[in-house]
Amino acid sequence: MKTTWNVLEEIVRAYPGGLSSASISNQVAPEVIRESLKKYDFGKPLPLDLLTQEVSDLFSKWSLHVSHPGYLGLFIPATTEASVVADALVALYNPQLAVWSHAPAANEIESHVLKYISGKIGYPEPETFSNFTSGGSEANHTALLVALAKQVPAYVNEGVCSLERRPMVYMSVAGHNSFDKIVKNIGLGLKSLRKIETDDTWRINLATLESQIESDISAGFRPAVIIGTAGTTASGAIDSLPELAALAKKYNMWFHVDAAWAGAAVLSKALRHHLSGIELSDSVTIDAHKWFSVAMGAGMFFTRHPEAVQVAFGIPAVYMPSQAQTEPYATTLQWSRRCIGLKLFMTLAEKGEEALIAQMEYQCKLTGHLRDRLTASGWKIVNDSPVGVLNFTHPQVLSGLISADDLRNRLELGGEFWLSTVPLPRHGKVLRACVTSFHTTEEHLDRVVEQLNDQLTNYSL
Ligand SMILES: *Cc1c(COP(=O)(O)O)cnc(C)c1O
Repeated sequence: MKTTWNVLEEIVRAYPGGLSSASISNQVAPEVIRESLKKYDFGKPLPLDLLTQEVSDLFSKWSLHVSHPGYLGLFIPATTEASVVADALVALYNPQLAVWSHAPAANEIESHVLKYISGKIGYPEPETFSNFTSGGSEANHTALLVALAKQVPAYVNEGVCSLERRPMVYMSVAGHNSFDKIVKNIGLGLKSLRKIETDDTWRINLATLESQIESDISAGFRPAVIIGTAGTTASGAIDSLPELAALAKKYNMWFHVDAAWAGAAVLSKALRHHLSGIELSDSVTIDAHKWFSVAMGAGMFFTRHPEAVQVAFGIPAVYMPSQAQTEPYATTLQWSRRCIGLKLFMTLAEKGEEALIAQMEYQCKLTGHLRDRLTASGWKIVNDSPVGVLNFTHPQVLSGLISADDLRNRLELGGEFWLSTVPLPRHGKVLRACVTSFHTTEEHLDRVVEQLNDQLTNYSL
């Protein structure tokens, strides 16, 4: 007789090994899934062992398997075994991190790992503050709230309406769209977000940025925040961080670095220099659920201005066991707080930093391999990212014979690979590949090139 835990153990053990022979995705209509869920009417209880197997079968059949070696997609990693174990332990103990005294171990574990990453960023201890977030989006949201608390303190009590000069936020057009949502949510409005054009390497154009700041000052606005992106989603471009830091200083602005994907590279001696200048920032976003290969959602926010965090989030609550304004509920966007950091702590502790670094460096080498193979068969590479994102197109795409989307869709139907397309200025829609699964090898990449070439041949026949 198998227990639920036997069933779960079998599922967890079998999943990674079974991936390469399984289809990466299955096309399915929502009605089909809804039909199969009808039997769960919550009328009569079901045994957990059976339910566990059934839910696993549903996930297995109807998911895009992002851990699959053929997943060359959007910064979603294969997850470490340690993250699976960590999330199970968190669900079991259910530590409430809102106040330290409710979850001393969990709170200290999170602080411990955050201090380690903060040190790698190059922030000076102890004048820093950091916390885990649901993801990069919440970390970016936190950054803007803290930046406003510092730059325009009246915002906190009087609200945005009280400000004589409209605070302006600057990032490149290639910056993350979470900021569009954030400026809408925090009362600034989309008009406060200036999207600056990029140069030929998809980095923010510094000259355009500075002249926009100057003309905004003349127009009576208050340039408040510069966002540098370290690893743009479309092209993996890293803005010129030291130059952005200098501009922010010159105009007395807050400098935030959105390094959701590429930030993990602060650990690697070989890759660190691509992020140089990140240590000059006022705040940083890094997602643990991206290049650190832990399960979602796990973002991180870092700042060198703990006092601004207090202004942004400080709030007394009489019913809380402690009113100390250093408690997590009074220093972060969330209230009840799940232990997010354990999966990063356990992943780092189990593998050791060297193995994680080697993994990231290997994935960059794999991108190099893919670049070489594509070039050798006539594809054109249109970017030069140091953090593993490849944009490419083909003369047949450029001449309009087949679209990048068509190619992509045909490739996906083969069941072995998933990659995306993205529109790029001057190139139209191009293909985008990024190695995010630690199961991916050179052989898989040889095969994706083979399949892409086959699609082209099929199409021209
Ligand atoms: C992924 C990403 C985000 C959004 O982070 P989530 O974890 O999806 O909330 C923001 N910025 C960049 C550069 C990203 O890569």
